[in-house]
Amino acid sequence: MVESDPSIFTLIIQGNIPCHKVYEDEHVFAFLDINPCSIGHTLVVPKEQSATLDGLSEEASAAVGRVLPRISRAVLAASGATDFNVLQNNGEAAFQSVFHVHFHIIPKHDDGSGLTWPFATTQLDPGEGAILAERIRSHLK
Ligand code: AMP
Repeated sequence: MVESDPSIFTLIIQGNIPCHKVYEDEHVFAFLDINPCSIGHTLVVPKEQSATLDGLSEEASAAVGRVLPRISRAVLAASGATDFNVLQNNGEAAFQSVFHVHFHIIPKHDDGSGLTWPFATTQLDPGEGAILAERIRSHLK
């Protein structure tokens, strides 16, 4: 899936589509999700338009990382939650629907609203783990 250019989030950042903005700086824009999983569900978006996280520049990702804790604190204070998830989907199979990198801040409320944890886990085989970790390290060199 290829995002239209400009993406819907770029159109929001440019003010061409309305949103409930909560934060903006030189590199980052944040606003309420239009279909919230829970009260306070907020999207934090780099202004740089990259479809997925692995294509984002270090400058843009650093800018997002810098403000995520601060925006999370504000979302929690405003929504009354103490627990929350930060979710970031990449690719259609991984539930991404807007192909412009974004981080979901999703408060977990006492009524159960928020994110559920649907993933079945497996046990990591020590031998396979050693091989896989080495393979990943080799790609980081
Ligand atoms: P994802 O599935 O991770 O790509 O999430 C995309 C999110 O963008 C969804 O939670 C949508 O509800 C949200 N979204 C899509 N269009 C808008 C919009 N115009 N304003 C606010 N949120 C939006």
